[in-house]
Amino acid sequence: MNLSKNQIEKYSRQIILKEIGGIGQEKLLNSTISVVGLGALGSPVVYYLAAAGVGYLNLIDFDVVEPSNLHRQILHQLEDVGKQKTLSAMEKIKKINPDCKIEFHNIKIQNQNVIELLKGSDFVIEGSDNLPTKMLINDTCEYLGIPFTIAGVLRFYGQIMTVDPNQKTLCYRCVFGDAQSNPVGMSCSQAGIIGILPGVFGCLEANEAIKSVLNIGTLLVNKILSIDLLNMNFNTIDLKKNEKCFACNSPSLKFITENNYGFNELCH
Ligand SMILES: [Zn+2]
Repeated sequence: MNLSKNQIEKYSRQIILKEIGGIGQEKLLNSTISVVGLGALGSPVVYYLAAAGVGYLNLIDFDVVEPSNLHRQILHQLEDVGKQKTLSAMEKIKKINPDCKIEFHNIKIQNQNVIELLKGSDFVIEGSDNLPTKMLINDTCEYLGIPFTIAGVLRFYGQIMTVDPNQKTLCYRCVFGDAQSNPVGMSCSQAGIIGILPGVFGCLEANEAIKSVLNIGTLLVNKILSIDLLNMNFNTIDLKKNEKCFACNSPSLKFITENNYGFNELCH
């Protein structure tokens, strides 16, 4: 074990977990996790992964902080309004864990840059607010062989699933390949959202990332977890892989680079 005295003290409460230990902590310190979207889902993700000692965080977001973000995007505060979300995130991470190395991309993730942005990641967390980005991340991670978790949240309701191309699990496109929009056809700005909801789902996404990197426990693969916070219903549904789904059966770089994914129809 090559952990310093300082690191052993800092991470002692998770090092004593038999599933993690010193070896697991070293794995976390050597891992690279990409976070796509530094909004409501990305906020708890960044906080918890940095605090847990994930060594390298690759942060991707093109947006700036707006006042209407603050009720749910807890990474950003009043003084950050107008600031790039990547910059705001970096400032917070430095306060939590200055040892965490950050690569940031203040850029819109699209089919022309997605491979370059995500390659080399041990795990990807999808935290965007739109279907085109979710599909793009799905197809790219399938192509690159990177496990990832993906969540969608609206009002009091959300869903989450994890995909592991190396285990040949079903993918997001298997389930939502025919979807034209989000489950109720509206964005947060139209339908509303309780701030706690992405907090819950972001924590679950971060937990999946840590489990995947450490190869512990059971990932949320081949199933989808739905949570209704208004009525406190938690349901996990087993799903079957779509054998005709090209994304997970025969991933294609050509499709990723040439398909426009419907980004043009997105309104912001
Ligand atoms: Zn699939």
